[in-house]
Amino acid sequence: MKIAVIGTGYVGLVTAAGLAEFGHTVIGTDKDSEKIEQISRGTAPIYEPGLDELLKRNLAKGTLTFTADVDGAIRDAGVIFVCVGTPQDESGRADMSQVEGVSRTIAQNLNGYKVIVEKSTVPVKTSDWIKRIITLYRKGDTPFDVASNPEFLREGSAVSDFLEPDRIIVGVESDRARDILVRIYKKFGDRVVVTNIDTAELIKHASNSFLALKISYINMISDLCEKTAADVEQVAFGMGRDPRIGKEFLSAGLGYGGSCFPKDIKALTKIGEDMGVNMDLLKEADRVNHKRTAVFVDKVKRALWILKDKRIAVLGLAFKPETDDIREASSIKIIRELIKEGSVLRLYDPKAMDNMKEVFPGSPQVVYCEDPFQAALDANALLVITEWAEFRTLDLARIKDIMANPIIVDGRNMFEPGSVRKLGFEYYSVGRK
Ligand code: NAD
Repeated sequence: MKIAVIGTGYVGLVTAAGLAEFGHTVIGTDKDSEKIEQISRGTAPIYEPGLDELLKRNLAKGTLTFTADVDGAIRDAGVIFVCVGTPQDESGRADMSQVEGVSRTIAQNLNGYKVIVEKSTVPVKTSDWIKRIITLYRKGDTPFDVASNPEFLREGSAVSDFLEPDRIIVGVESDRARDILVRIYKKFGDRVVVTNIDTAELIKHASNSFLALKISYINMISDLCEKTAADVEQVAFGMGRDPRIGKEFLSAGLGYGGSCFPKDIKALTKIGEDMGVNMDLLKEADRVNHKRTAVFVDKVKRALWILKDKRIAVLGLAFKPETDDIREASSIKIIRELIKEGSVLRLYDPKAMDNMKEVFPGSPQVVYCEDPFQAALDANALLVITEWAEFRTLDLARIKDIMANPIIVDGRNMFEPGSVRKLGFEYYSVGRK
C-alpha cells in the first residue's frame, strides 16, 4: 500500500524517509514547492544528523519520491500521514488551521478507502474534527478511517529516534485501520502500543508536558541551590539514580524551548481548561520556564553591571544542540533583551546562524562571527546559551587571552567551575557556586 506524507518539515521529512527505509513505498508532499524541489535533489532543507544520507539512499532505491502535487499524492495513496504544523495561536491553543486545510484537501481527493493518520501533535478530540470535515467535504460516501500515530522524535536525533523508537503509539477505532498501521510498523513487534484515538492523542501531549514539568522542576531546585551551598548538578545526579525518577531531563539551565514543549504544554493546559479540568500544575511549570531567561540576564547584569556598549560574545543560538531550529529558542529572548540594554552582540552557532539572521539581521549591534574565537575577541563577557559539544572542548585558555574581561556566564553548566576559575575566569553558572 502506498503511503503519502503531507508536510515535509522536521517531522514529515524524517517520517517519509524513515517509512521508505522500513521498505514502504512513500510519496512525500508539501505545499512549499521550493522545499520539494530541494528535497527531491536529495538535500534536506533543515540540518538533522543523518537525514541527507537517509534521504539519498531511499530516493536512489526509487521507493521514496516527492511531489508538490498534494492532490495527486492523496489520490495515489492508501494511507496518509498528516505532518503539518500545529503552532500556538494567540490564546495559547493549538492553531489547527493547517490540519483543517489538509482534511478538506483529503476529502476532495478521497477516491477510495484511505486511513488518515494524525502524526502532528494535536489536542485530544482532534480526530472527531477531522472525521467531521472529511465527511462534510467528500463527494459521496467513500469510506475512510482516522487514526492517531503521534511522533516522539527529537530534533538533533530525529533519524535515529524514528528508526529505533522506544514505542509506537497507534490510536484506532476500526480493525481495518489497526491492521494497516500494525503492518506498517511490523518490524517493531510489541513496541507498537494500540489504544483508542483519544488515548493516543493524549499520550503525546501528556508525555511532552511531563518532560517540560521535569525541566521546570529542576530549574526551581537550581534557584534554591543558588541560595545554599548545594550543587544542582549533584542534586540531579543523586535524584536521577532513583529509577523512579530517571536521569533524563534533569538539566538545570535556560529552560525548555523549541517548537514542541512551549506550545504543547500550553495547548494541553487550554484543552484541559476548556473541558473544565484544573491545569494549574502545568501553568506553573510554564511560568517557571518563562522566567529562566530573565534570571539569566540578571546574572549577566550582576557580572557586568551596566550592559550598554558592552561587547558580549554569545555562543549557541539553536534551541538545543545538533539542530538549526531556533523556534522558541532562549537565545532570541536573551538577544532581544541585551539589544534593548544597548550591548554589542557577537553571535556564533555551528548551524543556526542563517535562521537567526532572519530574526536579527546583522547590524552594528548584532555581529555574526565565524567561530567562537572571533566572537570572543575583545569581549567583556562570554555567554553560553546552547550546549553544543564543540563548546565543551573549547580552548578556554586561548579564549581568555583574547577577551577584554575574562567573564563567562554559562546558561547550560557546560564547564567545571573549579577548572574554569583556575584559568582566571570569573564564572557564573546555574544552581552551583
Ligand atoms: P514544520 O513547520 O517544520 O513543517 C510543517 C510542514 O507542513 C511545512 O513544510 C509546511 O509547508 C507544510 N504544510 C502546511 N500546510 C500544508 C498543506 N495544506 N499541504 C501541504 N503541506 C502543508 O513542522 P514540524 O516541526 O515538522 O512539526 C509538525 C508537527 O509535528 C507539529 O504538530 C509538531 O508539534 C509535531 N512534532 C514536532 C516535532 C519536532 O521536533 N519538530 C516532534 C514531534 C512532533
